[in-house]
Amino acid sequence: MSDQESWSKVKERLRAEVGDDVYSSWFARMDLEAIEEGGVRLSVPTRFLKSWIQSHYAERVLACWQAENEKIIRVELIVRSAVLRSAVQAKPKDLEPAIGRFASHNGNGNGRPLLIGDGNGHESLGGSPLDARLSFETFVVGRSNTLAHAAAKQVAAAKRSDPVMFNPLYIHSGVGLGKTHLLQAITWAGNAAGERKMLYLTAEKFMYGFVSALRTQTALAFKETLRGIGVLVIDDLQFLQGKSTQAEFCHTLNALIDAGRQVVIASDRPPSELESLDDRVRSRLAGGLVVEMGPLGEELRFEILKARVQAARAHHPAFDVPLPVLGYIAKTVTHNGRDLEGALNRLLAHNKLTGQSVTLEMAEREVRDLIRPQEPKRVKIEDIQRVVARQYNVSRSDLLSSRRTANVVRPRQVAMYLAKTLTLRSLPEIGRRFGGRDHTTVLHAVRKIEGLVGNDMALAEEIEILKRQLQE
Ligand code: ADP
Ligand code: MG
Repeated sequence: MSDQESWSKVKERLRAEVGDDVYSSWFARMDLEAIEEGGVRLSVPTRFLKSWIQSHYAERVLACWQAENEKIIRVELIVRSAVLRSAVQAKPKDLEPAIGRFASHNGNGNGRPLLIGDGNGHESLGGSPLDARLSFETFVVGRSNTLAHAAAKQVAAAKRSDPVMFNPLYIHSGVGLGKTHLLQAITWAGNAAGERKMLYLTAEKFMYGFVSALRTQTALAFKETLRGIGVLVIDDLQFLQGKSTQAEFCHTLNALIDAGRQVVIASDRPPSELESLDDRVRSRLAGGLVVEMGPLGEELRFEILKARVQAARAHHPAFDVPLPVLGYIAKTVTHNGRDLEGALNRLLAHNKLTGQSVTLEMAEREVRDLIRPQEPKRVKIEDIQRVVARQYNVSRSDLLSSRRTANVVRPRQVAMYLAKTLTLRSLPEIGRRFGGRDHTTVLHAVRKIEGLVGNDMALAEEIEILKRQLQE
């Protein structure tokens, strides 16, 4: 088995053990770097993820590896850095002042981040690190983000004495469309203006701070800390989980808004779709200004690419990307800003490592897998059966069997329904794939589920979640 195959299995195992929510919050961005004698090296994109995984899931991760390969006795976790990022931005050492600068604006006056907990530096509630590149200067404005950009600018420039215009400012969009960029731009600009204390936190960091504060019984101090903030910026709100965290989030939100402090939030969905939050929080979130950012249009993608190449050239004067190549990438690579960055990273890496100049042929070869698929991902019936079986805690062979106990019948019907709605397979074909059943049985199952989802909210939601999983 190849290393990547073992890694896929380990991830599957981990996902099955911790559940999809936890998995996607903490492990989705974990990559395999190397398998060596007796150990594996994994990487994550941020120091925060690293320390969280180390303190909460280290043994789990090791156990999952050992289940695949008993020779593994050690798992090392590192923070990876992107080629372009390290090239353009800085050596890791130079990154510290950026974080320090942020901390000194928010902290206790001696340049240290806001500390909370048992005094051991690990238990700290500082702001999440900021990326120096994510500023208003580097944010390209286009049709899809004009309003969000204008609102962000307004919030960043507001004076302490100004009345708060919209609170909270809630920005949502699909992944990679610039939410984090905009939120960090607000934080940088607000800090530079020095008017109000800005605190930028990922929802992960919010949870982490709160959870550790609870553990060390300084929840009160934690609240005080947050209430001392002029502008609270929370990124990726959809990751906020757990009843107590949400209750705390609700208090914090209310306390800040009632005190006339600005709150800025980003999420991958509108407030109405944050299913796990209670109604009052949702309506509070929807009560400010809710702005959606649409997909990056081709023109905007082109402008972003141009700006990126320009920035990269400051450190790599020889890195020259002909405009037709940029045009090609803007046209073909997905709407997602991260893939644009990925595409340029590859060209830069290729250019640096081989010394070849960037051509259209090189671009075609290097970015092939980032090209926007013409149609949505094809879902396979086996995947449906696997995912449904896991969801309902039955085996795949139960789904194919002729057993008629209730705990198998419903999942089987759901799986057939999903097979009909997510694939192009015919009813007879689906019947065959479900243990050789008749097409009328499939039809019955599809109608049954269609009828139920109209009335049964819980089932409808389950099915939505299954669909989302399958289409990701
Ligand atoms: P999100 O938080 O919505 O998932 P990010 O803010 O992380 O997205 O953006 C992904 C990448 O795309 C980042 O590198 C970001 O700088 C870039 N990007 C997205 N929108 C823009 C924009 N309008 N101008 C410049 N860069 C952008
Ligand atoms: Mg983001």
